Amino acid sequence: MRNDTQYATFEVRPTSHPRTLTERTAALAELSFGTVFSDHMAHAVWTPERGWHDHRVEAYGPISLDPAAAVLHYAQEIFEGLKAYRHADGSVWAFRPEANAARFAASARRLALPELSEAEFLHSIEVLVHTDVDWVPGVPGSSLYLRPFMFASEAFLGVRSARRVDYLVIASPSGPYFTTGFTPVSIWVAEDYHRSGPGGTGAAKCGGNYAASLLPQRQAYEQGCEQVCFLDAATNTRLEELGGMNMFVVTADGAVHTPALTGTILEGVTRSSILRLLAEAGREVHERPITLTEVKDGVTSGAISEMFACGTAAVITPIGHLKGNGFHLTVSGGDAGPVTSELHQALTDIQYGHREDTHGWMRRLV
Ligand SMILES: *Cc1c(COP(=O)(O)O)cnc(C)c1O
Repeated sequence: MRNDTQYATFEVRPTSHPRTLTERTAALAELSFGTVFSDHMAHAVWTPERGWHDHRVEAYGPISLDPAAAVLHYAQEIFEGLKAYRHADGSVWAFRPEANAARFAASARRLALPELSEAEFLHSIEVLVHTDVDWVPGVPGSSLYLRPFMFASEAFLGVRSARRVDYLVIASPSGPYFTTGFTPVSIWVAEDYHRSGPGGTGAAKCGGNYAASLLPQRQAYEQGCEQVCFLDAATNTRLEELGGMNMFVVTADGAVHTPALTGTILEGVTRSSILRLLAEAGREVHERPITLTEVKDGVTSGAISEMFACGTAAVITPIGHLKGNGFHLTVSGGDAGPVTSELHQALTDIQYGHREDTHGWMRRLV
């Protein structure tokens, strides 16, 4: 492990009450997503006077927060999501964590939170995963999901950026995000609500974006769909992304299309990795506006052969059905298409060490 003097290291303060081997084994035997957490968490605090300080890895557990803490009132909060993958030789790796560090810093700037350096971000993850390495599951498709987050903890009801901020990383051993695995999902296209707008926070990974997506998400469930797709707020005609995943369209000519980054879409690490893999495979890729009308017509005529969503948690998820006000379309006959399946295989092979990492995307943690 590196030990730069440029930043404070996260001091390990081992928990006095680690779960027993029996308890951990039981927890790892029944993996879902985001319900079980490891024994420790990384934690640091920021104030204007001291900057980031008190970096430690400590017992996982409830944190004490003043009821006036700004995050509870004004939602000054950001987060990240990445995974630690166990390879066959027992080593543990992260996928492009530098990209998460850079995005975390960009999100911090947008939410007027203090930036955490890339070195500190990476170090927090390395020390936590090192400490809780026994919590990294080894069964196929599993991982230790890492959730770094930062929030305004200053007790102050005035409206300004907070003068005390907490940074934490928690870790959750996880199975596949969708319990159904690599099977197509149904998408509801929301025409009455948006998750972000021009000049808003759509390009930042912040809790507020998710809060805004929950009501339309519930409407999607009521329509029998697992996920909601948002249209752009300016024209209500272009597909943007799902509540927490980017989206791709494959046309019958073999080209692949995804909404361009306009400032209202979150730039996924999975999205950018897919664009790279597709370009290297010699496929035509287009980042451009994609209208709902075009998609409805294309799926109906067969000009659009596949659609899929992507993000760290669920990797790549085929879209089998697209529903909205007055339409219900079946994509790819409701199955996963070949381009979607190939990409899923390529990406997970790299992440789990089954395929050579020619891009230098994997970073060894343990
Ligand atoms: C996190 C997230 C994604 C996916 O990003 P990845 O880096 O691929 O995990 C897409 N959209 C939104 C809104 C997100 O919050």
